[in-house]
Amino acid sequence: MSEDYRNLLRPNALPSVWCPGCGNGVVVKALIQAVSDLGWNKDDVMVVGGIGCSGRTPFILDFNTMHTLHGRALAFAAGIKMANPRLKVITVSGDGDTSAIGGNHFIHACRRNIDITAIVFNNGIYGQTGGQLAPTTPVGRRTITTMQGSTEPTFDLAQLALGAGAGFVARSTSFDFNELKGFMHKALLYHGFSVIEVMTACPTYFGRMNDMREPSDMLHYLRDTTEPVGEHAVEAIRESHKLLPTGIFREEARPEYVDAYRERVVRASGGMK
Ligand code: SF4
Repeated sequence: MSEDYRNLLRPNALPSVWCPGCGNGVVVKALIQAVSDLGWNKDDVMVVGGIGCSGRTPFILDFNTMHTLHGRALAFAAGIKMANPRLKVITVSGDGDTSAIGGNHFIHACRRNIDITAIVFNNGIYGQTGGQLAPTTPVGRRTITTMQGSTEPTFDLAQLALGAGAGFVARSTSFDFNELKGFMHKALLYHGFSVIEVMTACPTYFGRMNDMREPSDMLHYLRDTTEPVGEHAVEAIRESHKLLPTGIFREEARPEYVDAYRERVVRASGGMK
């Protein structure tokens, strides 16, 4: 018998504004199932969103939620975590939000290893604003601003997170729900900054601009352009893969930022907690 997750959703915010066939619903389903499986009280969970299609996620989830500014979800989330370390803090942001306007927040959250799970919805395009080129658009792919195909090198967000020092880095797709949910489960339990890049489907803009008119075409695209290298793919991302590798690329214990900060506060106050 399937579980009932309606207590984690806001009925008055449904149906969502997302287009039919959008991959965002798959990502959100994996998130609520992972949280539910962990048995977390929803009042202990905080979800912070940026701007963009994925930024609508906080509207439909019945956790503590916040809809913030473009590229600033991690800045708000860091403040929330510092003020109330008891909360399980999760950010939901798009690829443009994370790698363009919010790029600095992203790399410094990785560097600090602050205990937040960052879910990055990577559809390879700016969806909500009409399908413009993003730093993550694959080379050669058409967008509304690159009608002859993008000439810019593609930002690899998982590589960026590894280089910036995040303790947990994984990539999955909205095609492979079971893999995605399993990675979310691990990321949520990781004590430190955990990043899950989710390659997801935007049939409305990316798909239509690139001869994938049906949502199922985009699912096949995600299947055919990625290569699962598994849960133990640590650093395999650096090896040569013809397709985009998905897997857990790093999962290592590192000092967590809020712990280290509070330890210094206690020390400075003469040991009083
Ligand atoms: Fe999803 Fe694309 Fe529609 Fe945005 S524009 S809701 S990413 S299909």
